[in-house]
Amino acid sequence: MNNKGQIRTILQVAALLLILFGAYSGYQQATYWQQNLAAGILTSPYFVVGIVAFVASFFIAAEKYGECPSCKEKIIVGAEKCRFCGQKVKWSKE
Ligand SMILES: [Zn+2]
Repeated sequence: MNNKGQIRTILQVAALLLILFGAYSGYQQATYWQQNLAAGILTSPYFVVGIVAFVASFFIAAEKYGECPSCKEKIIVGAEKCRFCGQKVKWSKE
């Protein structure tokens, strides 16, 4: 199981929804106050939070890659088996 990948995907989907919602509410704000559209979107809290969450998702759930001792392919650190050659991998504690 790859939990980190799932968390990252969920976080990114949520962030994109926030960005879309922020853009929409920013558009409404801008129309209502007859402001600049870009200013309306950029000052929308949903849009800002969405952007921050999207960027943060890459750092929060970033996978670390290591080398398989057997075939030298890059695999995720912590994986029980190499996904290329099937070799069992032991990871030393960091
Ligand atoms: Zn391997």
